[in-house]
Amino acid sequence: AARLCSGAGGEAEAAGGDGAMLRHLARKLRASGPVTVAEYMREALTNPGQGYYTRRGGVGESGDFITSPEISQVFGELIGIWYISEWMAMGKPNTFQLVELGPGRGTLTEDILRVFKQLASVLSKCDVSVHLVEVSPKLSEIQAVMLTGGKVQPNPEGEPAYMNGISKTGIPIFWYRDIQDVPPGYSFYLAHEFFDALPIHKFQRTEKGWHEVLVDIDPEVPDQLRFVLSPSRTPATQNFIQPEETRDHVEVCPEAGVIVQRLASRIEKDGGAALVADYGHDGTKTDTFRGFRNHKLHDVLSAPGTADLTADVDFSYLRKMAQGKTATLGPIKQREFLKNMGIDLRLQVLLQNSGDTATREQLLHSYDMLMNPEKMGDCFNFFALLPHQRLVHPDKKDKPESKSPLPPVAGFNELLLK
Ligand code: SAH
Repeated sequence: AARLCSGAGGEAEAAGGDGAMLRHLARKLRASGPVTVAEYMREALTNPGQGYYTRRGGVGESGDFITSPEISQVFGELIGIWYISEWMAMGKPNTFQLVELGPGRGTLTEDILRVFKQLASVLSKCDVSVHLVEVSPKLSEIQAVMLTGGKVQPNPEGEPAYMNGISKTGIPIFWYRDIQDVPPGYSFYLAHEFFDALPIHKFQRTEKGWHEVLVDIDPEVPDQLRFVLSPSRTPATQNFIQPEETRDHVEVCPEAGVIVQRLASRIEKDGGAALVADYGHDGTKTDTFRGFRNHKLHDVLSAPGTADLTADVDFSYLRKMAQGKTATLGPIKQREFLKNMGIDLRLQVLLQNSGDTATREQLLHSYDMLMNPEKMGDCFNFFALLPHQRLVHPDKKDKPESKSPLPPVAGFNELLLK
């Protein structure tokens, strides 16, 4: 099963693991008091020694959750077409970087690179390179095998990229720990199920105003964690709650905001586009923090480091954090985006080309997973950042009739490839 959208889960599974992360956290909480949910989530997911992504990785059928690129190759292929269509609409610049944040097993990039290879005649004069932002040593190893067949070399400390190699299709690939290390330049960014893994702060409205939800050790039960409310306002309460907020429980992911600001600044300065796909809402949901282990919901405070922790992406917050530096499109539902990108036609071609019943059934099953509104079709969304001039001619106001109309952005409109 895929990670279900918030509120759609069953009973949470608890306990397990060797307890190293729990002991580490318990020591820390006893010594210096409760921590924010964001700090807890960061430790549990990306602590360099014991973090969930650092050690387990989790993505895929044999892991804890499965994602769209792992379900069907069609997903990545259509995203590859999206980049080519945007590259063409922007006048076919002679070089671009494909930058993926949190590439998991590397499947999505692999499927995109296959499309780039199939359309090599279109891209022939374009210099393409791939830049992966990945904190997990374990996952970067899996990506290296998937994309290069293992032919990579580590770089000396102090270099912006910690590893590099050449893809099986001959494209240079670089690995970084932080988006800021990726060289500037015309870039197409991709973040699939990345923002939902970044640490959130949780807040609760009380009679005495807003308080932050913290994680503490339970004084009654040894080594058991519990949620408590901050006794007074924390700095995050002051900074992240809007005066006009009407909800009683709010989740905010400042790290996502900072990354979107960076993407927007880079796109404004050097050109390109960003495609963000994730489950999420438009500033309406209240309590979406949850855990997954072994394809089942998992108590977020139990056995930290052994389960994936996640929260819905607040697209209204991402839009705000782009600060008008770029235009934004979406969020649009996954099933609408994929339909606009031509998934039905692609399915027909694959069905016609597949001889055996098992493959055909598999194709239909994965189509249903991606598109069915009850499965991933409705709760996953696509959201894009694009330079303003991609949507409106800069001199439109002065001479509206002088320019040919800009081509519509595929996915958010029907794909028109010339
Ligand atoms: N995009 C993939 C994987 C999603 S899981 C897919 O859809 O299948 C989240 C990914 O983000 C993992 O690769 C994880 O290691 C990475 N990640 C999590 N936090 C990160 C951070 N702060 N910086 C960079 N990568 C991070």
